[in-house]
Amino acid sequence: MAFEGLTSKLSEVFKKLTSRGKLSEQDVKAAMREVKMALLEADVNFLVVKKFIKTVSERAVGSEILESLTPGQQVIKVVNEELTNLMGSTVSKLTVASAPPSVYMLVGLQGAGKTTMAGKLAGYLKKQGKNPLLCACDIYRPAAIQQLKVLGEKLEIPVFEEGQKDAVKTALHGVQYAKDNGHDAVLLDTAGRLHIDTELMDELKRMKKAVDPHEILLVVDSMTGQDAVNVAQSFHDTLEISGVILTKLDGDTRGGAALSVKAVTGQPIKFAGVGEKLTDIEPFYPERMASRILGMGDVLSLIEKAQAAFDEKQAAKLEERIKSQKFDLEDFMDQLQQMKKMGSMSDILAMMPGMNASKLGNVELDEKQLSRTEAIVSSMTVAERQNPAIINGSRRKRIAAGSGTSIQQVNQLLRQFDSMKKMMRQFTDMERGGRRRGRMK
Ligand code: GDP
Repeated sequence: MAFEGLTSKLSEVFKKLTSRGKLSEQDVKAAMREVKMALLEADVNFLVVKKFIKTVSERAVGSEILESLTPGQQVIKVVNEELTNLMGSTVSKLTVASAPPSVYMLVGLQGAGKTTMAGKLAGYLKKQGKNPLLCACDIYRPAAIQQLKVLGEKLEIPVFEEGQKDAVKTALHGVQYAKDNGHDAVLLDTAGRLHIDTELMDELKRMKKAVDPHEILLVVDSMTGQDAVNVAQSFHDTLEISGVILTKLDGDTRGGAALSVKAVTGQPIKFAGVGEKLTDIEPFYPERMASRILGMGDVLSLIEKAQAAFDEKQAAKLEERIKSQKFDLEDFMDQLQQMKKMGSMSDILAMMPGMNASKLGNVELDEKQLSRTEAIVSSMTVAERQNPAIINGSRRKRIAAGSGTSIQQVNQLLRQFDSMKKMMRQFTDMERGGRRRGRMK
């Protein structure tokens, strides 16, 4: 999991800080030395670390903090704030053209995740009601054009391509095509090389001049640490990028790229790629990322995920069913499926405060339980789901056999469902009694 090493080291430092009632300047300085080591080990750029420690130390040794009632907590708060600042303080949105289409040029090394990100971003924009066009400007690898076409098909988003002719012309024609066909956003997927090379940079410069994009977004593989920073620096020097997109933040990145790239280029991180699926894209929130690094969890992202997964209409329908006491196993199944849409249980738990990988040992078990429950309910007939009371001994036997579980497991689920219904009944009774108000989601 991302930032794991950094998170556990920082939490050790913080544990020491908060275990004392009073802190001296020396204590803070010692803690800062440890924070410094942890950041360097996480592959954060040396100059970035140096400046960071200086800023935090200056703020943390002030009398306001040392003489406060909770000095340890105050120091952590300062670290949190400065980590947030390091990554950009506020969320940065994409620039939108006053006269469409908005043109977004994606650049980066080969393998950084550019093509995937072009697809993810197009899908993201489509969800926001835009009408994007993907444009295949990586003319050197036929496979790249094909890859983009496959993504376009999956997303039902058109892909403009002119084969392997001329990257700059393809970009120009793509933008024109977008204008002529009412697309309000164009995503240019450009070529990448394994290393920075002048020929490629020249082509990108020419493309920039020709299409005058509204954003040049550098796609950076967050697993590459220090190297990512050097790459970002050279791309910025030649192209003046307007933002960064970090990919593979779902992997076990140590954190270096995420924490250095904004400081080094001065340009904000706008999005993060957090998996291989096309929906694995998130706007980058520096504050949440800082909290995640500090092991304080990411409750806001969790809430957003829940909101995205739970469909409003379905929630209203469910509320109605609960109120009229009609909630049955079919609804229960719907709920399970909605939960699954939020991602794997371990993804969800990783976002909770105080969670880290070492504490997630039992999660796999829970996921198994979830699939088992789903299998059991799937093996029931509609009549059984709507009225579980009819599930007698022979039906139980059939359901267990159908779902590859045991009769005990079927019994257990029915018992759980029963107590859930009882709880719901109490809840609705209470609401009727006027003692409790408010919508239930
Ligand atoms: P490009 O050469 O820059 O266009 O890179 P690709 O888009 O082809 O991606 C390279 C590899 O990284 C592919 O195997 C992708 O599936 C994978 N990848 C891209 N983004 C992510 C991400 O956010 N998380 C993970 N785990 N893999 C990713």
